[in-house]
Amino acid sequence: MKRILITGGAGFLGSHLCDKLIEQGNEVLCLDNFFTGSKDNIIHLLANPRFELIRHDIINPIFLEMDQIYNLACPASPVHYQYNPIKTIKTNVMGTINALGMAKRLNAKILQASTSEVYGDPDVHPQKEGYWGRVNPIGPRSCYDEGKRAAECLMMDYHRQNNVKVKIARIFNTYGPRMALNDGRVVSNFVVQALKGEDITVYGDGSQTRSFCYVDDMVDGLIRMMESDDSFLGPVNLGNPHEFRIMDLAKTVISMTGNRSKIVHRPLPQDDPMQRNPDISLARKMLGWQPHVNLEKGLERTIEYFRKAI
Ligand code: NAD
Ligand code: UDP
Repeated sequence: MKRILITGGAGFLGSHLCDKLIEQGNEVLCLDNFFTGSKDNIIHLLANPRFELIRHDIINPIFLEMDQIYNLACPASPVHYQYNPIKTIKTNVMGTINALGMAKRLNAKILQASTSEVYGDPDVHPQKEGYWGRVNPIGPRSCYDEGKRAAECLMMDYHRQNNVKVKIARIFNTYGPRMALNDGRVVSNFVVQALKGEDITVYGDGSQTRSFCYVDDMVDGLIRMMESDDSFLGPVNLGNPHEFRIMDLAKTVISMTGNRSKIVHRPLPQDDPMQRNPDISLARKMLGWQPHVNLEKGLERTIEYFRKAI
């Protein structure tokens, strides 16, 4: 049994990670400021003596005891991370320094939830970990993109300077139950719109692509990364290598919900990446990991969740 801290543990990914780590017999400390997370996501764990909930903002220092840290605290949806961009970059920089400070004090292992956004709007496809990216440093997405890049830099510097055991996972678009209804990301938007019979809002002409990973696969990848040999720091891409056009996602969601929503077009947000697809050969080799849930199966479970939530 390990004692494991998850910052951002009441969020979408964090809450699924709490479930899995509890199921494996660990003690879990779930830290969250509830900016985008919700007590509903972890309410079923509150009575468990191996689970502890800490309301705290990770930009402020905190002293806790643990063996491992998953550093997930940070809003992930463009709508939410652009709502207060200064707070977003503070969370990524000051929050990561505070988490790394704890790891250093306790000789604990720390995994950083990084992102495919470190590649920006890429000119290399699919993206491999060795690609340095094409990020606009001064645009509306840079609080998140540059924040996450700075967090990766901090992880590597704490490792080189202080021997902290670090791990970097670059997460590509992940979806599933417990995404917030107002999350603003594409899968939850389309499913909620279709279930309510509202228009499906495709930004731009819908030819831009993303690769969608179901949450259970992602949680499995994150745990494998944490448990891998200390000498493997990453960064490692975690995501589903099947690439879909956003327009095709809209059509699939309409046909799977059986509703008659119309597709309407809205302006493409500034700096919206045109193509995104992970090369996961490193994860396959080092972690023996690859996703198993295809888009149809994952969407079925997600639609079922949102049907109840609505
Ligand atoms: P989410 O918004 O559901 O979860 C983020 C959680 O962090 C929320 O519970 C939020 O309240 C909490 N949080 C935010 N700022 C905080 C702060 N200052 N102090 C304490 N808690 C704070 O998003 P998610 O999809 O679960 O993402 C989790 C992590 O994974 C994020 O770091 C995100 O950048 C990363 N990620 C996710 C995806 C994805 O597609 N889901 C892709 C790439 C990276
Ligand atoms: N998108 C869309 N309609 C929506 C929400 C998003 O067409 O209602 C598009 C968005 O412009 C982007 C893709 O879907 O091209 C994925 O967006 P999301 O916000 O989920 O995450 P991103 O990968 O851009 O961080």
